[in-house]
Amino acid sequence: MSDGRIALTFDDGPDPLWTPQVLDALAEADARATFFVLAPRAAAEAALIARMQAEGHGVQLHAYAHIRHTKLTEETGAEDTDRALSMLSSLSVEPELWRTPWGVTADWTEDVAAARGLELVRWTADTHDWRGDSATAMLAAIDDEVADGAIVLAHDALGPGATRSGCAETVALVAPLVALARDRGLEPVTLCAGCPEAVCP
Ligand SMILES: [Zn+2]
Repeated sequence: MSDGRIALTFDDGPDPLWTPQVLDALAEADARATFFVLAPRAAAEAALIARMQAEGHGVQLHAYAHIRHTKLTEETGAEDTDRALSMLSSLSVEPELWRTPWGVTADWTEDVAAARGLELVRWTADTHDWRGDSATAMLAAIDDEVADGAIVLAHDALGPGATRSGCAETVALVAPLVALARDRGLEPVTLCAGCPEAVCP
């Protein structure tokens, strides 16, 4: 039986082509995950956001515009965040967790997060799936990090900086990653605000 937890997370979506395939793979594996969405993409793919919620996944904040916080002032960063939260609220998404673009924070990020009740979340295992590595190579690369409390970073869409042409290998990674986690007694869960390391104990 599982007594550990692991969080699979997907950034930069939703994408009309790849996100449904990621959701299908998660459904096939009966696994929950968390999606850190870009608000304009979420608004354009509202049915996918509804599907994520209906299937028990977490939907949390990535950004409105995918810009490093170090390139924004506190004012423009707060504006981007509020624009994203407002757009997500219209989709019945009320984020409690925030993974900033590239995981980069600036000296203002914590204040903007705290003022909006958002908890910042990074990751512990990076698939680097944006590079275009095969699912097999990605699984081997993160093998040692598939452990209790792990937060795995992947992408269900092409973001800025991606050097691959599609997300097929991320889709292909879901089933073997879930199987490996369960072999180690880890159940994939949604990320949780207020829990240690954001993964429920
Ligand atoms: Zn991103």
